[in-house]
Amino acid sequence: MNPQPFLVTFYGVRGSIPSPMVGKDVREKVLNILEQVRPENLRDANAREAFVDGLPEHLKSCYGGNTSCVHLYVGGYHLIFDGGSGLRVLGNHLLEQEFGKGKGEAHLFLSHTHWDHIMGIPFFVPFYREGNRFKIYGSHPRLKERLIGQQNFDYFPVSFEGYLADVDLVSLADEKECVLGDVRVTWHEMNHPGQCFSYRVEYQGKSFIYATDSEYKDLADASLKPTIEFFKDADLLVFDSQYTFIEGVEKEDWGHSSTFIGVDIALAAKIQKIAFYHHEPTYSDFKLVNIFEQTRKYLNAIGGEHPLKMILAQEGRTLDMLSG
Ligand SMILES: [Zn+2]
Ligand SMILES: [Zn+2]
Repeated sequence: MNPQPFLVTFYGVRGSIPSPMVGKDVREKVLNILEQVRPENLRDANAREAFVDGLPEHLKSCYGGNTSCVHLYVGGYHLIFDGGSGLRVLGNHLLEQEFGKGKGEAHLFLSHTHWDHIMGIPFFVPFYREGNRFKIYGSHPRLKERLIGQQNFDYFPVSFEGYLADVDLVSLADEKECVLGDVRVTWHEMNHPGQCFSYRVEYQGKSFIYATDSEYKDLADASLKPTIEFFKDADLLVFDSQYTFIEGVEKEDWGHSSTFIGVDIALAAKIQKIAFYHHEPTYSDFKLVNIFEQTRKYLNAIGGEHPLKMILAQEGRTLDMLSG
């Protein structure tokens, strides 16, 4: 039997707080585009479209301002990693499918309960459709109380227990793995204030890792070994690279990492592709691309023969795990 798809789609890639693009960002992009345009690019509609399509991603589009949320359609299951503000957008997409008819089923895995990872939950419309079924997984104590607390009547008009869909909480604290058909999910504790967990999803010999919100202090330290083992040989690593390398040093113990550390970790764990994720909310798309180019130079300088691919996680972008 042919395998089912294994698709990864980013719905929220920003760290800490939603950070929508504002007027000055648009102006900077427009000015940059105008510098590049030539009369022949404006000849007719086709030429204009081809010109725009050929522009780099940070000019013709944006990396996105919603907070953490990644959707996997794998082995026939909907898996969601984190419920940041991107979850709202994912919910609207899911409504166009069976979730709109109250026949949807999805599994939401929480890395931790910092606001930027749960704030989309009250705005996830499929929760308000009778018949839909959800499981929310996490390893933290009092998980249900935390989610109920976010929707206390003082802060939100609908209680967490007031959804029309079936929403069950599943504690992973005493479990080793979660198996859904041919899909296997495992997890690993990371270094972040208040605990954070990364997840590994395996299907058809391909593996995806969701590793947001983590600080990697001493790369030579034996304490990192279990993390490298957990990441080992993954096809795609979604990696918290909130800061520049220098800022990461300055903000020790803030619980985040950088693209340079990401390259070191990815090389040590023999990762195929790393997606830099949880972008710092104050960084413009220009700054993200600038950091990315510096990181490419770093990889070229130290990467040797290893064919590590790198991307900047971008809202709306889908990666096909089985085709690459
Ligand atoms: Zn975060
Ligand atoms: Zn956090």
